[in-house]
Amino acid sequence: MSILKNALDSIAIGLEDFESSDERRIISSTRNIFAGILLLFKHKLCELSPEGSDEALIKQQVLPEIDATGAVNWIGKGKKTVDVKNIKDRFESLDISVDWKRLERINKYRNDIEHYYSTLNNDSIQQLISDSFIIIRDFIADELKGDPKILLGEKYWKILVDVNEVYEKEKSACNEALESLNFYSDEICNALIEYHCSECGSGLLGSNDLGEAAEATFICRACGNESHYEDIANDAVNEFYAYEAYLAHKDGGDTPVVDCPLCGHGAYIFHEGICVSCGDSAAHECVRCGCGIPPEEISDGSLCGYCSHMVAKIMAE
Ligand SMILES: [Zn+2]
Ligand SMILES: [Zn+2]
Ligand SMILES: [Zn+2]
Repeated sequence: MSILKNALDSIAIGLEDFESSDERRIISSTRNIFAGILLLFKHKLCELSPEGSDEALIKQQVLPEIDATGAVNWIGKGKKTVDVKNIKDRFESLDISVDWKRLERINKYRNDIEHYYSTLNNDSIQQLISDSFIIIRDFIADELKGDPKILLGEKYWKILVDVNEVYEKEKSACNEALESLNFYSDEICNALIEYHCSECGSGLLGSNDLGEAAEATFICRACGNESHYEDIANDAVNEFYAYEAYLAHKDGGDTPVVDCPLCGHGAYIFHEGICVSCGDSAAHECVRCGCGIPPEEISDGSLCGYCSHMVAKIMAE
């Protein structure tokens, strides 16, 4: 059986799992769809592998061999095939484009679904199907030069299109509801737009309230879970800045979110100069030396770390 046929079968089975009323099949739906997408990618690498190379491009190990003419050929070895990271490296080197951020979101949901989410229903995985739809459609059209509707078959294509449409509609209704609230900073609104329900993982977070976001109740439109602003603001803002925090830790630079010196919650967005938990701002410029106060040194006073140390020393004398 060809890799392409395996890929299309896996996606089709995943969509059948999704359509089933059996909740246990939700997890297998996410697994099958993700596996199907990776197989589509492998199919492309297989197509591009030179003849006689033992499908070098899909093998993790590729070794050079000298043939009868004395030329060096790169040959695929062993049974281990490429993983997501290998595929990404090879695609980038071959100039094949994939929306990796979207793929990463699918992969993360697939990993999280078994460990973190206690409530699951078909609505919870709408975003995964909608993301998958976009990746599958674009990859088949742009990289495989095929017609996704024909390859997948009308029935499965229609499921993907319909889910995507429903999801996009609900998501924009959620975003509108969030955007109509008053936030301490636009950044926390953006963070909530990207936030996922802690119960079911759905990205459909909305609210029926008006006015101050800090007073509002937020509702997951997939599972109905309700949370108050203070329950989710911290997590939302830290997840939103997770990548920047990782880069700051790895390469140096300002930590994007620090503990608020006024309320103690880890929700102070440094570059915005505001805590999304209590809405207060700390001093960012030292009144004694005029220097900018770095994230680690902001406090409920108005001195940098050095000056507050000096002042304490003078006072002690
Ligand atoms: Zn939920
Ligand atoms: Zn605060
Ligand atoms: Zn100072």
